[in-house]
Amino acid sequence: MNKLLEVNNLSTSFYTHVGEVQAVRNVSFTLGKGEALGIVGESGSGKSITMMSIMRLLSENGKIKTGNIIFDGKDLSSYTEKEMEKIRGFEIGMIFQDPMTSLNPVLKVGEQLIEHLIKHTKINSTEAKGKAIDMLKLVGIPSPEKRLDQYPHEFSGGMRQRVMIAMALICSPKLLIADEPTTALDVTIQAQILELLKDLKQKLGMSIILITHDLGVVADICNKIVVMYGGTVVETGSKRDIFYNTKHPYTLGLLRSVPNAKSDIKDKLIPIKGTPPDLLNPPKGCPFTPRCEYAMKVCNEAIRPETFVISQGHEAACWLNHNMCNIKIVSPKEVALDAREESITRSK
Ligand code: SF4
Repeated sequence: MNKLLEVNNLSTSFYTHVGEVQAVRNVSFTLGKGEALGIVGESGSGKSITMMSIMRLLSENGKIKTGNIIFDGKDLSSYTEKEMEKIRGFEIGMIFQDPMTSLNPVLKVGEQLIEHLIKHTKINSTEAKGKAIDMLKLVGIPSPEKRLDQYPHEFSGGMRQRVMIAMALICSPKLLIADEPTTALDVTIQAQILELLKDLKQKLGMSIILITHDLGVVADICNKIVVMYGGTVVETGSKRDIFYNTKHPYTLGLLRSVPNAKSDIKDKLIPIKGTPPDLLNPPKGCPFTPRCEYAMKVCNEAIRPETFVISQGHEAACWLNHNMCNIKIVSPKEVALDAREESITRSK
């Protein structure tokens, strides 16, 4: 596999008036060229902060404490702010949950696309306008010439997200990071945006990192999944590993809380009880202990669970995978994959 991104032992903290919030702790993962990686977890699991650390978009009180970030052979951890400006939007594109926070409401969509393109490339305004029209066409916006002259508020939520995708991709980045890109949209539009991302990934051959709390969303696009909890990576594997050979109780909890197309109407979703750990004072043992139905005496002790290698590319940080442990997790038989596939088929 040709690596595009390598994150090694990344730890990021925020320094607040009540103390140090350890938002990301020793996170490592890799992403290959043309690969799609899903980072999944609840709010506060550290998934968005991991991406903000990669893009170096942390707030003033945030600091990368340890680790390095190698992107396309370059160590971004040593880059100055000026050098990072050339990476953001040009080599790495980003889209967020709410396009209105990223689009300027007082500038026409065309002006924003063209300005972005001219800032990062050497082309003139006529060429930039042509490229902006092509990009709007590519993301499925009808009458792009006319739409260039409109303001963001004249677009529906789904169309605005398409504009954001056009903006993120107009400079042909090698990597697109999408942070909860469909959360604010209704289910039908969600499915359309996911289909669009999948289609663009194939057409443009770029890599994607999709950040979401919904395992059903990553099932559509991603071939590799990283599950985060309490600022740490708890399980990594292929889509098949995560859905059909689950090796961490938190991943199992996420799977059980996603609707399944084959379940009966009477079947209830099972939420994960309890709340995420306090990152001001993270537990010394396994951070999932208070919420884990499998918790054992060792889980509460002062050492974090080792990361056990289950098979090539499949790892889980849980004592249940120790060869001395005879308790086994049972993967749900029918999972969100089916639910999502059916919802996409229905929306077409
Ligand atoms: Fe549960 Fe223990 Fe595994 Fe943590 S290490 S997930 S508490 S069984």
